[in-house]
Parts: sequence; C-alpha cells; structure tokens
Amino acid sequence: MVKPKKHLGQHFLTDQNIAERTAILVNKSNVENVLEIGPGKGILTKHLLKQPNKIIHAIEIDTESSEYLQENGILQKPFLIEGDFLQLQISKLFDKEFILIGNFPYNISSQIIFKMLENRNLIPLMGGMFQKEVAVRIASKEGSKEYGILSVLVQAFYDVKIEFKISPGAFFPPPKVDSAVISCIRKSDYKLDCNEKLLFEVVKTAFNQRRKTLLNSLSKFNLKEVFLSHPFAKLRPETLSVNQFIELTKFIESEKV
Ligand code: SAM
Repeated sequence: MVKPKKHLGQHFLTDQNIAERTAILVNKSNVENVLEIGPGKGILTKHLLKQPNKIIHAIEIDTESSEYLQENGILQKPFLIEGDFLQLQISKLFDKEFILIGNFPYNISSQIIFKMLENRNLIPLMGGMFQKEVAVRIASKEGSKEYGILSVLVQAFYDVKIEFKISPGAFFPPPKVDSAVISCIRKSDYKLDCNEKLLFEVVKTAFNQRRKTLLNSLSKFNLKEVFLSHPFAKLRPETLSVNQFIELTKFIESEKV
C-alpha cells in the first residue's frame, strides 16, 4: 500500500488509456534513454517499459513508492533511483541525450522546467503532465495573459504542444485542478545567437514587473539613452515574441554601459 502524500504532490493516475497516451510520446525521439520523474506506483512506468528500443530509468523521492515498485517487479535499481530529481546531478547519470517524462509533482513544476532548460543540451524531448494552467502558460504565445517567463524561455529552445487535457477523475486522490500533457521537442537551432544567460535575466526582469513598460522594468541594465527611441521601449513584455526577446537581449548586450 502506498498512502498518497500531499506534500509530495502524489495524485496517482488511475486511467490506463491516459498512461498509454503519455508513454507513447517518448517515440517522438529516437533517443533510447528515458528518465521518468516520480514513477509513484508505476502506472506510467509500465507503459513506458512497453515502448520499443527505450531504456527506462526513473527517480522517485518517496521510499514507500520505491519499495512498491521493486516489490511488484515493476522497476529495479539501478534503473530505479531513490532520490530527489531537483538534487540529481544529471551529468553523473547520463553522458548522452535522454528523454524526460512524467506525471510531474505539481508543486515543483517550474523547478523541473528550469532544470530541463539548464540541461537542454542533453534533453531533446520532454513529455510531461502538469496542472493545466502551467501547461497553458508554457505553451502560450505573445499577446495572451498567460504568456510569461515560462513561455518565452521554454519556447526559445523547444517547440511546445499541448497534447491533451485530463480531468481530476483520472487520478486518486483527484486533484482540485485540471491537468494537461504537453510535449516539448527541442529546436534544431537551439543554440541562440545571443547571450543565453542574459536572455534569462532580461525575460525574468521584464515579467517580474509585467505591467510596466520595458523602459521602466529594464532600468537595472543601465541602458544608454538610445533605448529611449528603441521600438520596444514603450511596450509591455507580454507583447514581445520570443524572437523579439532575443533581439532585445542582443541590443542590451551591445548597449550596456
Ligand atoms: N507517475 C505516478 C502516476 O502517474 O501515478 C505518480 C505521479 S505523482 C503526481 C508525482 C510523483 O512524483 C509521486 O510519486 C512523488 O512521490 C514523486 N515526487 C515528488 N517530488 C519528487 C522529487 N523531487 N523527485 C522525484 N520524485 C518526486
């Protein structure tokens, strides 16, 4: 028995059809190594193990779940790792590319996304189940109120698609929110022609004061007066496309005093 633990975001999927539809997303890439975050009682893991030419690894923080997976012959060490994905030193586990997948614990969704972005050189594909609002934020385009830090930074490197939505009844215990599965396929030209670290800083700074014009929100970059006449200066961050943020980053790089 695994008693669902709220602090670990444990809402176990009970719908086999949804588990299968999520698992087959790994076939969008021919990379063989797969890392599932939070296998829980293994409903998704079992479907992942059926996919051809894939080697399934999973990391689970909850020892009760990890014991369940081993006792029921679903996944064994060393493919099953007991630990916290957020603390995992990815380069120690994989020296080549791998696919990231999971019905993610919703309380650490953003941290999972940022860790994926940090390790984007090794992650050509991610398939993930999120709270629907988070999935929509990741996939949103400029001009919408959901468009923000996650949208720009993920879409700078990945093509994002909302695959399908899921209602609370597909889980035990049912969460209070709807869910959605997204896929993120890394772009072929994912090395940007701007300072990537600066891009993260610009995007975060701009959206942290999203009601202000960029002229005001980006004042900490000490831009020369020339920014006053820049076409983006009087705009709010949600109106800029990903490419325009890259353009802005290049401008900031060249005009910083
Ligand atoms: N994959 C299972 C399913 O679909 O039924 C469980 C999904 S449940 C929403 C999230 C799982 O992530 C839980 O098993 C939880 O213990 C695990 N988890 C939570 N935080 C974690 C972390 N930091 N690292 C690894 N696993 C974590």
